[in-house]
Amino acid sequence: MAERLSLQAVRNGDLVARLGGDEFAVLLADLDPASDLDHTRAVALRLHQAFADVMVLEDQTVDMSASFGMAVWPHHASDADTLLSRAEVAMYSAKRRSEGPVLYDPAIDAASSQTLSLLSELRHAVDHHELRLFLQPKLALDTGRVVGAESLLRWQHPTRGLVPPMSFIPFAEQTGFIRVLTLWVFEESARMWRVLNEGGMRIVISINLSTRDLLDVELPQKFEALLVKHIVPAEAFCLEITESAIMDDPQRAMTTLERLSGLGFKLSIDDFGTGYSSLAYLKKLPVDELKIDKSFVLSMEKDVNDARIVRSTIDLAHGLGLTVVAEGVENAQVWNLLRDLSCDEAQGFHMGKPMPSNEFVHWASGWATRHAAPGPKGVPGPNVTLH
Ligand code: C2E
Ligand code: CA
Ligand code: CA
Repeated sequence: MAERLSLQAVRNGDLVARLGGDEFAVLLADLDPASDLDHTRAVALRLHQAFADVMVLEDQTVDMSASFGMAVWPHHASDADTLLSRAEVAMYSAKRRSEGPVLYDPAIDAASSQTLSLLSELRHAVDHHELRLFLQPKLALDTGRVVGAESLLRWQHPTRGLVPPMSFIPFAEQTGFIRVLTLWVFEESARMWRVLNEGGMRIVISINLSTRDLLDVELPQKFEALLVKHIVPAEAFCLEITESAIMDDPQRAMTTLERLSGLGFKLSIDDFGTGYSSLAYLKKLPVDELKIDKSFVLSMEKDVNDARIVRSTIDLAHGLGLTVVAEGVENAQVWNLLRDLSCDEAQGFHMGKPMPSNEFVHWASGWATRHAAPGPKGVPGPNVTLH
């Protein structure tokens, strides 16, 4: 790509640079004031075209895409920093519209300043400890024991209150900032695991990864360094990946997943059944667990089709040697149905909602007390209605 960018752009004095991650910048120097805008547009179009051609790497064909934003001195800014940030604003606009190169225009700035200010608010949130780690219990259906927890992110915003992940995760994914959030969640989970482990609780903590994380070839090393830093084993964590994240770039995702699995992390396919799941890939991936999406579980006690889907998914997963988790268990009937279908684990509001991580220990000991006495069949499952 560096070669393609240079061939298309570089004249004497031009500069092609990588800003970080998957962001590149091209500086066209000393343009003729009479044609600077036209010249910039022409170069951007050529670069855009350069990305449209597939790249052939040995026997692989790789599709690529990129979004381009342009800003031109002195029309759009009078100093380098502003020029760069306006090019960024134009780039985000191009990304949102998924069309060709976009030249900076103050009109798009109004919408994009929102994006940039949200981005700086998120950065601020990390630096000023506004992020919160919530944990939601995962229970074994046969014994009713707490066997794990899923880490779910919340943002304690100074004025907006507790912001749910759906209000900022998609944005973080779009801008690439999710990588920072993922490392934060991982580190916080590692810290929490130590606390729980020292208190005698041996559970596996699940962490959500997004497409951007899977495309980051350095992710396994970063996680490994955090394991060493916090003195925790990789086996203490299960990494949840959605089917669509894998399908975005199966080859690259596969490489990352193999390395993560090689380090000892458990891997789980999240929201199973909602994506364009390819069974061929499922067979090849080093996964340990399959999580049935809550849309099939929520009303499976009333909807026969949902119940059928859940049942065949459980059979499929077991046939492939995978553990099956059902999420979205909201009542005792569903719990019982899943147990009868030999589903392995359950997660849902019926047992426990996501809670601040420091409340988890308290909840877990309360749960153990409430469900310690063996039931009629020797199974201390949550058959009882909970209060
Ligand atoms: P998800 O990974 O599918 O997480 C499960 C979601 O289902 C959670 O929503 C949880 O509160 C909800 N849930 C659990 N049990 C029940 C139930 O019985 N009934 C119903 N109706 N819902 C239930 P939450 O915490 O709002 O998270 C939403 C999504 O945001 C997550 O979906 C995940 O995709 C994303 N997310 C949350 N935290 C992170 C994170 O740290 N990193 C990444 N990449 N994504 C995250
Ligand atoms: Ca998940
Ligand atoms: Ca899910």
